Amino acid sequence: MPERDVTIGVTDGRIASVVSGRPARASAVRLKGLTLPGIANVHSHAFHRVLRARAQRGTGSFWTWREQMYEVASALDPDLYAALARAVFAEMVGAGYTCVGEFHYVHHDRDGVPYADPNALSEAVVVAAADAGIRLTLLDTCYLCGGIGRDVEGVQRRFSDGTAVDWAERVEGLARFESPTLRVGAAIHSVRAVPPGAMETVRDVAASDGCPLHAHVSEQPAENAACLEAFGITPVALLAEHGCLDPRFTAVHATHLAPADVGLLGQSASTVCLCPTTERDLADGIGPAAALAGAGVALTIGSDSHAVIDPFEETRAIELHERLGSGERGHFDPMTLLRAATENGYRSLGWDGGGRLHVGAVADFVTVRMDSVRTAGGDPALALDGAVYSANATDVSNVVVAGRTLVRDGRHQSLDVERELEGALRAVWAVLAK
Ligand SMILES: [Zn+2]
Repeated sequence: MPERDVTIGVTDGRIASVVSGRPARASAVRLKGLTLPGIANVHSHAFHRVLRARAQRGTGSFWTWREQMYEVASALDPDLYAALARAVFAEMVGAGYTCVGEFHYVHHDRDGVPYADPNALSEAVVVAAADAGIRLTLLDTCYLCGGIGRDVEGVQRRFSDGTAVDWAERVEGLARFESPTLRVGAAIHSVRAVPPGAMETVRDVAASDGCPLHAHVSEQPAENAACLEAFGITPVALLAEHGCLDPRFTAVHATHLAPADVGLLGQSASTVCLCPTTERDLADGIGPAAALAGAGVALTIGSDSHAVIDPFEETRAIELHERLGSGERGHFDPMTLLRAATENGYRSLGWDGGGRLHVGAVADFVTVRMDSVRTAGGDPALALDGAVYSANATDVSNVVVAGRTLVRDGRHQSLDVERELEGALRAVWAVLAK
C-alpha cells in the first residue's frame, strides 16, 4: 500500500535504500505526488505511431489496418527510424513508461536486402532508446513467411532473414549493444510467419542466452483458423508442442483462446501481454484476462500500435474490458493491476526484480500528480485507486530510469518531445507522399 514520506536512496542505477521518513540530506529531491515503481511497456512497434489519427476512421479490420501499416514499413530507413523511434520513446517516457519491449521486425532495406551492417535498423532503435533514456529490451523478431506455407512478398521481404539459422546469425551481432539499460530478447512473429522447425531454433537461441521469448498469439480468429487447418491445433498448442512455453515466454494479445490454451499458458507459468487500447482500436476483441489470471498467468500491458500511449489507460482497461465482457465488476484490485504494469512487465522483458520499489531493484520510478484536475480531491488512503482509475499520461510529473531523472515537472529534460514527434512524423509522411 502507498506510504507517506518515503526516502529512496540510489547508487549506481539501483535502489540502495527505501526508508520511511523525510530525508536528512538537503540535496534530496522531493517528489510531490504518488511515486510508483517503473512501468513496463511490454509490447511496442515504434513505427506504428505514424498511423495515429490517420488510420482510425472508416471501416475495416485488423487486416485492412495491416495494409496501411505495411505502407509505413516500406518507407523506413535507419535515419528516419532513429528519429521516429527517439520521438516515440520520448513520448513513452513522458507518459510514465520507464521500460519498453520493442518487438522489432523491420530488418532489411526496401528491397529486402541486408544493409552493409545487417543490424542497422536495430541500431537505430538502440540509439533512439538511449537518446530518450528509456530502458530497452530489443526483442529481435524472426519473420520468415507471408502466411502459413507462403513466401514473404512485397514489404514483408524487409522482415525476413530467409531462414531461422540466418536470423540467429544476425542476432548474434546484437550482443555489442547490451548495457545496464539495454537487453536483447527474441521473438517469434506469429505462427503465421514462423514455421514450427524455425520456432524451435528461435526457442533455442532464447534459452541458451536466458533471454525473453515473445510471440503474437491468437490476436485474430483468422490466425486460429489458419493454424487449425494447417496443423490441427491452436497457436498456443503449437507453440507448446514445440517447447516454446515456459516462464520466459510471453504471449502477446492472447485474445481468442480456447480453454485448453489458457491451461497450457498457466501450467507453463507463461506471461500474457494485453494491449487493450490497440485491441479495441483494431476491433480484435477482449482477451480472457480473468481466466488467464485464474490459471496463474502473469498479465502485463503493452501499447503495441501506439494509437494511445498511456499506461494508466492500458492498465485500468484490463479490469474495465473484463467488466464489459462479463457484466460484473471487481475482477482485479488496483494493486494487482499495478503489478501487471510494473513488476510483471519487467520480468517479461528480462529485468527480473525490476518494477518494484525494493532495495537492489533497478532505480526506475514514476511520480504521478495527485493534485491535477483528474486526481485532485481523492482519498489519500486510496491514492493507488486514484492513480489507476483517474490519472492519465499527462499527470506524470517525474520519471527516473536507472537513477537518472528524465522527466521533471512534466517535461523531458533533454528532448523537446512535441517537436521531435512533429519532425519525425512529417519526414515519414513526406517519403510516403513521393
Ligand atoms: Zn504487435
